[in-house]
This record gives sequence, structure tokens and C-alpha cells, in this order.
Amino acid sequence: MKPNLRRCLACRQVAPKSSFWRIVRVHPSRTVQLDQGMGRSAYLCPQADCLKLAQKKNRIARSLKAPVPDTLYQTLWQRLTDSPPPNSQTINTQSSSTQTPTQDTD
Ligand SMILES: [Zn+2]
Repeated sequence: MKPNLRRCLACRQVAPKSSFWRIVRVHPSRTVQLDQGMGRSAYLCPQADCLKLAQKKNRIARSLKAPVPDTLYQTLWQRLTDSPPPNSQTINTQSSSTQTPTQDTD
């Protein structure tokens, strides 16, 4: 079976559709949203570099011929930062040093 290939609008890299973020201009409301909906679509690598470039050059809006709300970019940045780092360990620094220093009362 032929994979469903798409192209990133920032770096022009071609990859399977499922590996990209999908930004959709929904028909007929022309609302630009993520992942879901029928309409004109743009694809972007889930990478900071591509997101940065797409935002800076307004690539998504150009591709979709519709304004892209700031909240959409915010959501994407959130997705990047929300993905947990590989070596994330919750370090419990419980400082139980509630010792009162010796007071010099004269
Ligand atoms: Zn890319």
C-alpha cells in the first residue's frame, strides 16, 4: 500500500501524513483549527524549528489563505513543551531543616 505522504510547509520535508501536525481551514466557516475537520489542510512537522519558521513567515495562513489565530500557535508550542523529556525524574527536595538558629539575646 502506498503511504499517504504530505509535505511540511516549513522545511518541505515529505513524510507520512500521520507524522505531521494537521492544520485545517474548516469549510464553510473558514475557521482555522487543529487536527479535525474537513477542508483545506496544511501540514507541519512537530518540531520547534518548523513551527518557528511557519509562524515567522506566516506560512500556515498563506497556505490556507485564512488568518491563523494566535491561540493555534500557542497550542502547538504547548504541545511541544508538554511532551515529557526522556529523563524526567521528579526530584523531591524536602527541606526539613526547620531548625531555629541560636539567638543572641542580650
Ligand atoms: Zn518541517
